[in-house]
Amino acid sequence: MVNSTSFSGSQYAIVGGGLMGRLLALALAQRGAQVDLFEKGDSDASGAAARIAAAMLAPLAESAITEDSVVRMGIYSLPRWQELISQLSTPVFFQQDGTLILWHHQDASEAERFTAHLEKNSRNHAHLQAPQKLNAAEVRDLEPGVADRFKQGLYLPDEGQIDNRQLLPALLLELINLKVNCHWNTAVNPNDLRQNSYYRAVIDCRGTGAKSAWNDSSNTLRGVRGEVIRLFAPEVKLRRPTRLIHPRYPIYIAPKEDDVYVVGATEIESDDLSQMSVRSAMELLSAVYTVHSGFAEARILEMATQCRPTLKNNLPEIKAYKDKDLADLIMINGLYRHGFMIAPAVLDCTLEMLALGESTTAKDLDLCINTEANPLKVAACV
Ligand SMILES: Cc1cc2nc3c(=O)[nH]c(=O)nc-3n(C[C@H](O)[C@H](O)[C@H](O)COP(=O)(O)OP(=O)(O)OC[C@H]3O[C@@H](n4cnc5c(N)ncnc54)[C@H](O)[C@@H]3O)c2cc1C
Repeated sequence: MVNSTSFSGSQYAIVGGGLMGRLLALALAQRGAQVDLFEKGDSDASGAAARIAAAMLAPLAESAITEDSVVRMGIYSLPRWQELISQLSTPVFFQQDGTLILWHHQDASEAERFTAHLEKNSRNHAHLQAPQKLNAAEVRDLEPGVADRFKQGLYLPDEGQIDNRQLLPALLLELINLKVNCHWNTAVNPNDLRQNSYYRAVIDCRGTGAKSAWNDSSNTLRGVRGEVIRLFAPEVKLRRPTRLIHPRYPIYIAPKEDDVYVVGATEIESDDLSQMSVRSAMELLSAVYTVHSGFAEARILEMATQCRPTLKNNLPEIKAYKDKDLADLIMINGLYRHGFMIAPAVLDCTLEMLALGESTTAKDLDLCINTEANPLKVAACV
């Protein structure tokens, strides 16, 4: 872990106060740096993907659709989340009680393929327990609320979730306490800030707002639209994130505190931030009702849309620029649908980059740090 002496007294600008921007601003301020944070939207993060996310931390479940490097970043990040939230003065709901995977009997062959895939992937990771096949009694023990509908399931013991709606304000409070200069409702181009000689580095955490900055590279940035519904469902008693395997409507249900459930998410190749479509609402709500009939009497708290910041290869990347007479520029992007799952890993790699000009953690985790535009060569991109 990088110590405070590397940062103490130095000045940094961070552009974007969503997930990565807040985490970095806090980490630098805790190490004695002076930090200016610029955010286009308000202090509630209402323009950030981070506010809409379900914030599940599910490296094995996600291994079905992502690369091994992202899975490793997810495994690395689970214990780091616990450390990070233990430093906050406000409690943040964090749970590591596993993920339950369910399917209706007509989707059994798809579930079989999925199970085989996860079994294979878990063997590649010493720190991940293998998925456990559950019979009817075991489903009942784990989640009695779904036992009348599901006689089998799959349990991924290591996985967890965090409450983003608690985390974001908790980080904000810490930033205020540590006297980070927060500039809300202030859209900024990071390149303009680089002219200011007092910044040691400018860090671009704009998510999809950084599109034009990535679009001159081969790894272009796009938004992937996601729609989620927040429900208040006191009749439902689900204790852990639950996913439904379904050929058309694969959904997840993330139970938060106080009977709130986040149900999501659509995944549509589009930058469209308009309200949820009727079709998506119908699909999400009908699928969730097939998991637990108690959702029929749930109250809809919110239907929300955001776009996941996604690079062409669907992987995260850090770009580092070092130019004469300008502050260094670090661009962090491509967290896609795994931002919460991998954020602590990306944070630690960025801190190493800022302090040492290289990151051994990034090399270990195969996080791409692209330095082609400058001599700060660190890790080969996959
Ligand atoms: C529907 C949905 C569900 C998700 N579920 C999960 C999940 O279960 N697990 C998981 O790990 N991840 C999940 N994610 C992904 C996760 O939310 C993102 O990967 C993560 O938020 C990306 O973090 P970021 O800091 O890069 O971007 P953001 O959180 O989007 O923050 C970017 C910030 O930059 C600001 N900004 C933009 N332009 C400017 C500018 N010019 N000047 C100043 N500020 C600017 C924006 O207003 C925003 O606040 C989900 C995402 C969505 C949309």
